Amino acid sequence: MTNIPVITFSNGHKMPALGLGTYKSEEESVKKAIKEAINLGYRHIDTAFYYGNEREIGEAVREKIEDGTVTREDLFITTKLWNNFHREERVVPTCKQSLANLGLDYVDLYLIHWPMAYKEEEDLRPKDISLAESDVDYLETWRGMEECVRQGLARSIGISNFNSEQITRLLKSAKIAPVNNQIEVNINVNQEKLIDFCKKHNITVTAYSPLGQPGGSSGIDNKLDSSVIMLLAKKYNKTPAQIALRYVYQEGTAPIPKSVTASRIKENMEIFDFSLTSDETNAIRKLGTGERVASFP
Ligand code: NDP
Repeated sequence: MTNIPVITFSNGHKMPALGLGTYKSEEESVKKAIKEAINLGYRHIDTAFYYGNEREIGEAVREKIEDGTVTREDLFITTKLWNNFHREERVVPTCKQSLANLGLDYVDLYLIHWPMAYKEEEDLRPKDISLAESDVDYLETWRGMEECVRQGLARSIGISNFNSEQITRLLKSAKIAPVNNQIEVNINVNQEKLIDFCKKHNITVTAYSPLGQPGGSSGIDNKLDSSVIMLLAKKYNKTPAQIALRYVYQEGTAPIPKSVTASRIKENMEIFDFSLTSDETNAIRKLGTGERVASFP
């Protein structure tokens, strides 16, 4: 079984350096994917209230605990607070709702999904974001996140899609420091500066859309079939996706590739038996265009 390295947070808790993403993984396919991943040795699962699949993920996780494959303590489960629930008094109830969906007593990591808030009465996916925005400050939201730790609902708390300016502001008032920032990192978006900034502040980085979302609707060339990547795949006898994930890992992040395909779930974890040279990571870095898969207007 592949040995996945672990990353230690500033609070001492540990997170496996590779996890399974679940955005757009639904119903039976996500249940199957989670069970397959746990059988293969994945211990880190990433979900969010927004994804609408916490129930199915919880069912699959509980089945794997009940059949003795893993214990709850073996697993690292992340979920996220959606934009409609940023008011301080809404955070604990929303975290409890996610736990009820998952059928779990605690999550390992609870993240503020995005720094900006929507009005509570708005749709989770508003048609016009400019009309949905509210001015709830994420500093207020963070106080609710801290309460989730105090109540034992989350072992660790963090942020997602925060830039260095927002993190600086948060660190000035936080009583419990964020341990992780989940951001887009892939061949196009290497996030060198932000990763460096996070490291200096003891914040680990999780890389979302680490493959550049192949088959997604962004229309952005994810560079998986560029000659640089193809040559490296040949050299190391790996697939282009494995080269991309290894690159993202070597940039100092924990990639969370999403797949509901058994062969790819396996392929994506087999990245810890080779390493790219610094010339090779530099060559990959030069392919980056800065175009993001997840851009918020
Ligand atoms: P990814 O870069 O992980 O790409 C996922 C797509 O790649 C799926 O269509 C999958 O298809 C396909 N794929 C997976 N493995 C391979 C492979 N080895 N070769 C070729 N294609 C492959 O994009 P995501 O946007 O899903 O990001 C990963 C996770 O990050 C999300 O699922 C979510 O958990 C998280 N995320 C967080 C965000 C945030 O704001 N915090 C924003 C976006 C994502 P298939 O499933 O059919 O195999």
